[in-house]
Amino acid sequence: MPDSGDHPSPHRICPVCHLGHTRPRAVTHVEWHDDQLIVVPDVGAEVCDFCGAVSPADDRLWRLDQLLRHGHALRSAPQRRPHHQSSRST
Ligand SMILES: [Zn+2]
Repeated sequence: MPDSGDHPSPHRICPVCHLGHTRPRAVTHVEWHDDQLIVVPDVGAEVCDFCGAVSPADDRLWRLDQLLRHGHALRSAPQRRPHHQSSRST
C-alpha cells in the first residue's frame, strides 16, 4: 500500500535562519573553560545545511558545559612548582 502522504519529514527547520533544514550529525564540541580546552568528540547535534548553525540534539551531553561551570570536574589542582635549589656540589 502506498504510504505517500504526510509522513513526517526527517529534517527540521533551522531555528536560527528558518531557511535551511537541520540534519543530524556528529560534531566535535570544543569549548574553552578557564584555561582548559574541553573537547567532546562525536556529540549528537543538528547542523543546518544552509547557515551551518549547530544546535544540540541531545541536551544531556551538552550539559557538560554546565557541569564544568558549577563543579570542579576537570579542575586540576594548581601546580606547585617546587623550588629548585641548585645545590652546589663542592
Ligand atoms: Zn540555518
